[in-house]
Amino acid sequence: MDPARNTGRCLCGSVRYEVSGPAASLCYCHCDSCRRAAGAPMVAWGTFARSAFRVTRGQLSEHRSSAPVLRGFCASCGGALTYQHDARPTEIDVTLASLDAPAALAPRMHVWVAEKLPWLVISDGLPQFTASSGAAAGP
Ligand SMILES: [Zn+2]
Ligand SMILES: [Zn+2]
Repeated sequence: MDPARNTGRCLCGSVRYEVSGPAASLCYCHCDSCRRAAGAPMVAWGTFARSAFRVTRGQLSEHRSSAPVLRGFCASCGGALTYQHDARPTEIDVTLASLDAPAALAPRMHVWVAEKLPWLVISDGLPQFTASSGAAAGP
């Protein structure tokens, strides 16, 4: 198996995707938008080249959560899968938890910590950014 090629899917399996190449960034995003989109206290993202991402089954439904942000999800089960920001047209962020082998790619930092929920305590020693690190999911 090619370690640089990752596959993933939504909860119901209607949407499957494939993404290749190294992740440019791996992070936990604590922003309010990611939280609401996923229904979770934070979301783990991996940033890849947009040209290296393709949907291999079904169709990605899209929702513009703010003017520059397009979020991709499964219309059947609601699983959050992708994030695209107009300021980063060559990149796409993929939810690490939707990968078929999520253990292989671990987040390396926390972003948008200014919006973090107070009851979520970060104790992993990873770098923390108040807002975006420059290449990370955010509102
Ligand atoms: Zn689904
Ligand atoms: Zn976010």
